Amino acid sequence: MQSFKVGILGATGAVGQKFVRLLQGHPWFKIAALGASERSAGKLYRDAANWIENSEMPDEIGKMTVADCVPDAMGGVDFVFSGLDASVATEIEQSFAAAGIPVISNAKNFRDHPDVPLLVPEVNPDHIELIRRQSFSTNATGFIVTNPNCVCVPLVMALRPLYDSFGIESVIMTSMQSVSGAGYPGVPSLDILGNIVPHIGGEEDKIMSEPMKLLGTKQADGTIKHANFPIQATAVRVPVIEGHLLSVAVKFSNKPAKLSDVKEAIRAWKNPLAAMNLPFSPETALKLFDDPRYPQPGRHAGAGNGMQVSVGRLREGRVFDVSFVALGHNTIRGAAGGAILNAELLVNEGYL
Ligand code: NAP
Repeated sequence: MQSFKVGILGATGAVGQKFVRLLQGHPWFKIAALGASERSAGKLYRDAANWIENSEMPDEIGKMTVADCVPDAMGGVDFVFSGLDASVATEIEQSFAAAGIPVISNAKNFRDHPDVPLLVPEVNPDHIELIRRQSFSTNATGFIVTNPNCVCVPLVMALRPLYDSFGIESVIMTSMQSVSGAGYPGVPSLDILGNIVPHIGGEEDKIMSEPMKLLGTKQADGTIKHANFPIQATAVRVPVIEGHLLSVAVKFSNKPAKLSDVKEAIRAWKNPLAAMNLPFSPETALKLFDDPRYPQPGRHAGAGNGMQVSVGRLREGRVFDVSFVALGHNTIRGAAGGAILNAELLVNEGYL
């Protein structure tokens, strides 16, 4: 397997640090450049980053000098991961793609661009072909791929088999979101300790719209026809450190005869990555618990190295057809780890 030199845009931030930690020992990807704002550029990474990961900063990374987020300053990389602040991501990511450097981004800026794949590799791997429609760079080597909002990952992973088997008429979802999703320093401690904050700015719109693209169908002309059902979302912040737990109710278009048919649809779902041997693809990508106590953020968010999505409490509903909970690790599966899996799929499919 070829080895790739990788840059990280926004390397000093919460997501950037997660990239640094998760990429340690990666069999294909080696960190070759770290980029951040002019506040950090020119400094050693150990002096520029306020390290918040739960393991020590890798020594060789701490000694690297942070660069400006411009292609010339981060030259020699094969592609970049982006954990950039949304206020600057559009211009910077576009400049890298224009310079012929692929960008695998966590930022929201290009998620709804019609030619940019919004990717959860197990859910819509065929959407990577959108890359062929992009024209960010004249020589077509630079492109942009994004991963969705961290709530959308467990939501669409759980909905994928249900949508395929029964069709979906509507969904109501409440997400109980951990504090790490707000970055650092995040939610003030006086707001969240012993409390629940019933509003997360901008979150519900993303949860209601991104699944439509993710569950969309590729058309003969290469475009994506979005799925079309309403999601009613409520996003609240809870005093949990890692892991977003979702309470989901689904009304089907073609009502299954029995609850066991719904369970069977989830258990029979075939992971399209199963035979690819991608390093970040977990052995079990979607797990259905029968024990009604599970899944719990404190116990299961880290399953599959934070890449497994866990579903439980699947039951018949009185208003909607079924209800269940779904759990995903927000900063691994919902951010840096998801982006790394995207890059691995791109390697496997010959785009990198
Ligand atoms: P963050 O901690 O505030 O980090 C932002 C990064 O952007 C820092 O490295 C910062 O560099 C850099 N930056 C800011 N202004 C810049 C500029 N003018 N030029 C170049 N770099 C600049 O934010 P975060 O929580 O890691 O989130 C990063 C992105 O990922 C956001 O778009 C966010 O929406 C998305 N996201 C976050 C999560 C999460 O769980 N936190 C999950 C999914 C997606 P300096 O340190 O030099 O200022």
